[in-house]
Formats: sequence, C-alpha cells, structure tokens
Amino acid sequence: MLKFADLINENVEELAALDTVDAGKLYDLGKIVDIPGAAETIRYYAGAADKIHGATLKMSRDLQAYTLHEPVGVVGHIIPWNFPSQMFVMKVGPALAAGCTMVVKPAEQTPLSALYYAHLAKLAGIPDGVLNVITGHGSTAGAAISSHMDIDKVSFTGSTEVGRLVMQAAAASNLKPVSLELGGKSPFIIFDDVDVDKVSDLALQGSFHNKGEICVAGSRVFVQEGIYDKFLVKLAEKVKSWVVGDPFNPKVHQGPQVDKQQYDKILSYIDHGKKGGATLLSGGKPGGEKGYYIEPTIFTDVTDDMIIAKEEIFGPVMSVLKFKTVDEVIRRANATKYGLAAGIMTNDLNTANTVSRSIRAGVIWINCYFAFDRDLPYGGYKMSGFERDFGLEALYKYLHVKSVATPIHNSPW
Ligand code: NAD
Repeated sequence: MLKFADLINENVEELAALDTVDAGKLYDLGKIVDIPGAAETIRYYAGAADKIHGATLKMSRDLQAYTLHEPVGVVGHIIPWNFPSQMFVMKVGPALAAGCTMVVKPAEQTPLSALYYAHLAKLAGIPDGVLNVITGHGSTAGAAISSHMDIDKVSFTGSTEVGRLVMQAAAASNLKPVSLELGGKSPFIIFDDVDVDKVSDLALQGSFHNKGEICVAGSRVFVQEGIYDKFLVKLAEKVKSWVVGDPFNPKVHQGPQVDKQQYDKILSYIDHGKKGGATLLSGGKPGGEKGYYIEPTIFTDVTDDMIIAKEEIFGPVMSVLKFKTVDEVIRRANATKYGLAAGIMTNDLNTANTVSRSIRAGVIWINCYFAFDRDLPYGGYKMSGFERDFGLEALYKYLHVKSVATPIHNSPW
C-alpha cells in the first residue's frame, strides 16, 4: 500500500488530468488537493493495516475468550463521478488494510482514473485479483455487484434513490450488509455576530466549489436577519469575480457540469426557482454558448417550501433564507429528509455548541466548511445514509468480529 501511495504521488499530473477530462474538475486543484490527498489516504490506511486487533474479554463464567477482527471477504464498491479519485481511495484504502479483496465500479461518466489506479496498484505489487476495477453502467455492472451471491459487502456512494435499489438488491440476494453514503441538502447557518466579508467567501465556496456537484454542498444558506441585507450586498459583489470556464485554466473557479443530463437537471431547478417566487441575485443561465457551463446562481427570498430549498440540485445553485432565532433555525435546518452536513458560522461558543448538538447530520463544521480530513469519519444521518468513510471508523466496516471462547480449567461445557 505504501508503494501504491508513492506511485500515486509520482503520477499526480496524469491522474489530475484524467479527472479533469472526465468530470470537468479543476486541474490545478486536482494536482494540489485531490491526488496528493488520495496518496495520503492510502498511506493512512497502510499505517492501520498492522494495528487491527480484537480484545481479551473478562467473562462471567470459567472461560477464556477473545475477539478476532477478520476481513468481511469480497467487497463491492460502487462510486459516483463527482470526486473520482477521492471516492476511489476512501473505499479501497480501508478495505485493503482490512484484508479484503474487492471489485470497484466507478461511475460510467468517470472511469479513467479508476483504471489508472488499478494499473498503479498492479505496479505496486498488489496481487492480481485483490483490487479489481469493472467499468459499466449502474443498471448492469452496478446491479450485478449489489445482487451478487459471492459479494460479502457493498459500500455504495451515490444518490438516495440508487442507494435504496442497492439495499433492495442486497436483501433480495445474499443479505449482504451495505453501507450507504447518499445525497444531502445541507444548511450553512450564519449568525449575525460574524465577519460578513469572510463568511460570504466561505458561503460561495460552500455552494459553488466543484461546480456545486458535491454531496455536502452548503446550498441552504440561512442568514440571521440582522446581517441579511449586508450579506447579500457582499455576496452579489463577490460572485462577480467567480470565473466559469475551461477547468485546465488556473484562473478559473468553476468548470463544466459533468454531462448533459446533469446540466439539464440543474437548469430545470433554476427554472423552478424563478417560477416559484424566489429572487435571482446572480446567474440563472448557462455560462456561455458552448459546453455544459452554468453561471453561479444565487436565489434570495427563498422559503422552506420551495423546491429549490428542499431537493438536492447538485449544481451551482445557492438558496438564501432569512431567520430570526436559534430555535427557529435549528427547527428549519432539520426539516429535511437528509442529514449529511451542516455549517455553523458564529463567534458565540454557546450558540455553536447548542446548534452543533441539535442538528441531525453526520458532519458539523463550525466556522469552516469542507474541512475534510482522512482522520475525520464522514457520512450521514437519516436518508443521507449510514456507516462512515474515512477515519478508523471506515476500517471497521470491512471487518467482522469473531468471538472465540474456551474453558480455562477444562470444565464440562
Ligand atoms: P448515482 O446514484 O446515479 O450513481 C452512483 C453509482 O451507482 C454509479 O457508479 C452508478 O453507475 C451506480 N448505479 C446506478 N444505478 C445502479 C443500480 N441500479 N445498481 C447499482 N449501482 C447503480 O449517483 P451519481 O449521479 O453518480 O452521484 C450523485 C449523487 O451521489 C448525489 O445524490 C450525491 O449527493 C451523492 N453523493 C454522495 C456522497 C456522500 O458521501 N454522501 C458523495 C458523493 C456523491
């Protein structure tokens, strides 16, 4: 695994370029963040591989007993297209460290870097048959994994709709356990004691980073009434310098959406926003004549019942909502079927503590956003899924616990 990580570092440019041509991701960011981060993730789990152990148990009877942590067996990883490299390593790293063999199915839109990682794994000496990549569509290759009788576990990241299909197929075949990382509609909550200038930058990133194709996008921006107007002025000013264009150009902030289907879906949500009574502060249309570019779009005067405030758009569309009190914003932030992430912007420790404990979501960022780290377990509550990627939590989803007991004094059991 350490050799595999080294090879990833040696191939940063190739891997970043593959994710850019496949997914429209920013090339420079790939070179600086995604691909070196992928190598670090593999290295992190390599360090865990020889530290997996069970426990010696104190029993109520005359027994000596201990637990073994054993690999679950063959794992099927089904992953989406928005972070092809990070998704690949966050699944493969802990499963390899746990001692599993695996089949990875990348999204049909972004198979290239997965194939390249498989090639590097082979060069690193990972034995044939341990790390397998199979490309294909979800309804064929993906479904073959979730319904396979010889696959022991499925680790899925993708939409809530497909997560449900995966779970149904697992139940209908060999009852394999599944872990699901699904969609979200995360609140980004701004209290009126913050530095509006700084927070508006963070809010832009929260909604438009990776062209909004990010499951933890902070796309429901709740702003306390005392700074609402000031915040909108800042936002309108700052979004003007957000550059949409060729993702290989280092001056660009936002590349094209992944494909036509996604592009059309986002534009139809923008249409809902316009017709549903929200006010357009910026964007609202394609970014240019050619390619699947969409302008960073900000809607204000959004209410909780609007479609753009309820459904995951997975594109560069921000909804700004006004609130008055802490209790009110907790209730409204939680009024969603999802529970993936939340951002809380405040300088008041009591408010930060109260809100972070009251939001039903798997990841809470206080005065930051997208603060990912391979050490930090990551996953959802409610219909955003269950079980965790990253951290040592992820290792244990690829391990079974076996209990072993034996009489200490040869007693007649
Ligand atoms: P998707 O659910 O359409 O596809 C995800 C994967 O599932 C792909 O590899 C696809 O081929 C496969 N698939 C499709 N149909 C299948 C089936 N019937 N059986 C088995 N596999 C099947 O999702 P997407 O469009 O690729 O990605 C966007 C979604 O992923 C968004 O909802 C987003 O929020 C979610 N997502 C979640 C996380 C997270 O960590 N929670 C991270 C990234 C993306």
